[in-house]
Amino acid sequence: SATAKIIDGKSIAKQIRDEISVEVSRMKDAIGVVPGLAVIIVGDRKDSVTYVRNKRKACESVGINSFEVRLPEDSTEQDVVKFISDFNDDSSVHGILVQLPLPSHMNEEKILDAVRIEKDVDGFNPLNIGCLAMRGREPMFVPCTPKGCIELLHRSDISIKGKKAVVIGRSNIVGMPAALLLQNENATVSIVHSRTPNAEELTRQADIVIAAVGVPNMVKGNWIKPGAVVIDVGINPVEDAKSSRGYRLVGDVCYEEVVKVASAITPVPGGVGPMTIAMLLTNTLISAKRAHNFE
Ligand code: NDP
Repeated sequence: SATAKIIDGKSIAKQIRDEISVEVSRMKDAIGVVPGLAVIIVGDRKDSVTYVRNKRKACESVGINSFEVRLPEDSTEQDVVKFISDFNDDSSVHGILVQLPLPSHMNEEKILDAVRIEKDVDGFNPLNIGCLAMRGREPMFVPCTPKGCIELLHRSDISIKGKKAVVIGRSNIVGMPAALLLQNENATVSIVHSRTPNAEELTRQADIVIAAVGVPNMVKGNWIKPGAVVIDVGINPVEDAKSSRGYRLVGDVCYEEVVKVASAITPVPGGVGPMTIAMLLTNTLISAKRAHNFE
């Protein structure tokens, strides 16, 4: 039976990092400016610590300066905001990222709002989302994960215009901006969420499916129209006695089934994950270029 083309996010992300490297050197040689990314992490959630470490390594690999602040779990909102303000005022920092989730005693909205919009490389500021949703407006930054999904389609020569797309999930950081981006690319977009009664039937009509749900293996083979393109954003730990860590990561898509039906699919890990970080570097470079009027 047929099998889908595997969209290799790892190698596409590598290619993007190589391109960024070239640009970082060019900028440094021309005007002596090195892009800088500041990351703030509160507490010691294992997954967050891993993400932050991967972001730092990625910065190093392309020559972007990285600044890291690690605060204890019992820090106050004011502590976090203080560091954000300092980075806001620091001209060597072009991007500021607050690793989510924050501890439950903190108001996420208040903290994220403290990041200057010119340095909001995550693109989480409501003004960014607003611009993304309006015709003729350009957001300052496009959120990294959905931007990575679109980039995967572009770099795999998958056309979006005129296609039927279904996004499963409507979160502020993935599902909703992914749907807006697809619409901006002239797809006709439906959004499926936890209150959608006929998720399966709707998904089966799509030429392009982006799954960002957080439910392991939810999207089965029979949810997919033969030949559709499937982008799996999910990163879900499931118990696995055979793994040394005791768990392994799976997507929101039942890969073994869907790979037999789709024309192209992203694996987990090695699909969208590496792209998210590559887009963070891209946004940091964009920010530095903008701050210094460098093209
Ligand atoms: P959220 O929990 O914020 O959002 C999940 C969305 O899925 C919600 O809109 C929810 O609907 C919807 N949903 C939940 N259950 C169902 C269901 N049974 N049927 C249909 N829709 C459902 O998650 P995120 O968007 O933050 O993340 C989604 C997944 O992507 C997670 O696995 C996460 O780990 C991963 N992720 C991966 C990243 C990467 O770099 N690859 C980056 C960020 C996230 P409702 O709104 O109705 O509650």
